[in-house]
Amino acid sequence: MRTIVSGKIVAILRGSEIIRGSLVKRYFKCKTPGCSCQKGQSKHGPHLYISYSTEKYSRQVYVPTEYQIAVKRYISNYNKLWELIKKVSIENIELLKDKKMGKKLHIGKKNGKEYRSV
Ligand SMILES: [Zn+2]
Repeated sequence: MRTIVSGKIVAILRGSEIIRGSLVKRYFKCKTPGCSCQKGQSKHGPHLYISYSTEKYSRQVYVPTEYQIAVKRYISNYNKLWELIKKVSIENIELLKDKKMGKKLHIGKKNGKEYRSV
């Protein structure tokens, strides 16, 4: 089945710009003697990290400044992809209920109203 929604999924996957994780800001004390951070004043940062987990562990990976915009886009793509997958799943369940599963479902907007047709 190929719908507008599943077409968007393919477009995102084609770019492979996907990261599953969340961004975390961290602050540090350095080891420079006499630095203000050593005196309990403001720490260094924020430094951006991606927090992610697998079935076995969770990790944080530093995101260099020059990659921050791209990494935010990759994470956004993952979240968009997940929302699209949920929409396709609902479409497929509706087709199953109508005994039309396997047929092409067209979804779009016409004159501001959403329409669905098989
Ligand atoms: Zn310091």
